[in-house]
Amino acid sequence: MEEAANAAAPKEGEAGRLLMVPGPTNLSMGVRKAMSQPQVGHMDLDYAKEFSEVVRLARKAFRNSNGHQFVLTGSGTLAMEIAVTSIVSPGDKVLALNTGYFANRMVEINKAYGASVEEIRTEFGVSANPDEIRRKLAAGKFKAVFVTHVDTSSTTCNAIKEIVKEAKNSSSLAVVDGVCSVGGLELDFDRLGADVVFTGSQKALAAPPGTVLIAVSRELLEQMERRKDSIRGYYLNLLRWKSYMDDPRGYFATPAVQLMQALKVALQELDEEGLDARWRRHHANAEIIREGIVGAGSGLVVKERAHRADTVTGIWTKDGAAPDIQRVLRDRYNIDVAKGLGENGTTMLRVGHFGNLTKEQADYFVDSFAKASAGR
Ligand code: PMP
Repeated sequence: MEEAANAAAPKEGEAGRLLMVPGPTNLSMGVRKAMSQPQVGHMDLDYAKEFSEVVRLARKAFRNSNGHQFVLTGSGTLAMEIAVTSIVSPGDKVLALNTGYFANRMVEINKAYGASVEEIRTEFGVSANPDEIRRKLAAGKFKAVFVTHVDTSSTTCNAIKEIVKEAKNSSSLAVVDGVCSVGGLELDFDRLGADVVFTGSQKALAAPPGTVLIAVSRELLEQMERRKDSIRGYYLNLLRWKSYMDDPRGYFATPAVQLMQALKVALQELDEEGLDARWRRHHANAEIIREGIVGAGSGLVVKERAHRADTVTGIWTKDGAAPDIQRVLRDRYNIDVAKGLGENGTTMLRVGHFGNLTKEQADYFVDSFAKASAGR
């Protein structure tokens, strides 16, 4: 390992490997310490106060001042499923924008709950076209439109402002999977006007995996009240969680206390940095990384600049070299990146650049990637 170049990498025993997989991310010392406090009971009044603070800070992270805010124990897939149980009754027609593996998971969950799903499929690395969505919505009535803001498999970023607008103009509900975006790029729940936006804690929020944050419009919650009896799910029924979010001194289900405590610190750190500043930092680092990749002679999976995400970047490697580059980055430079999913496993790398990533670490990645691509 080269001394100077490696200066930006975390020291052994400090933060471990420089995690640049598309989640989870390296955690700050404050977040890590939050998880090693003595256990408190989930009914402890001090814990209830801490949890109320988590919900308050979650609202700030989404810019959600008008809607409802939920924070639950579970992974991003739980939030996806809750979005479906909140909306879908068997036989409902929904439109899903299928821009990759995670968007496709949304299709499958919808089908599992009996929805009749129509899809708009895009080429890999291309985001959904709002004009095509408008035409589709004009031709038929859909209960909801499901869009993945950043599909972590294809690393494509969808134009959610336009897409949500089209959905609402056609009186459909709008659901945004923000797992790979919330905290890392512009998303303002109040102004967006979507009915559900959710994320997981392990990506741009720089908290450990295991909690989900879900913003829900007033309109949708009122609709849910009206169809109370047809909501499929118990843990997956937001109406059951509502009073706990408003006053966590009661009991609904035992939360992952330490993960919530860690999330609180991560959200405080986000609040201190400021949401706009965090978006700007993500954009600046993403630009450094994209330029570095192209400079090293590799291609970006997302060709169209406007479709690129500031949280994750897909790289086409030459001649099936993805596993080799991944191994060299890990063994020689102490950086962990992910391969493409499924059939893209040998030709594609995915680099997460969110959470606490600094400019020095982005520079270090670029330098290391250039060397690893050249077989050094
Ligand atoms: N949606 C997107 C966009 C994701 O990237 C992921 C996970 N990478 C999920 C949903 C599912 O989240 P989880 O793995 O936490 O269940």
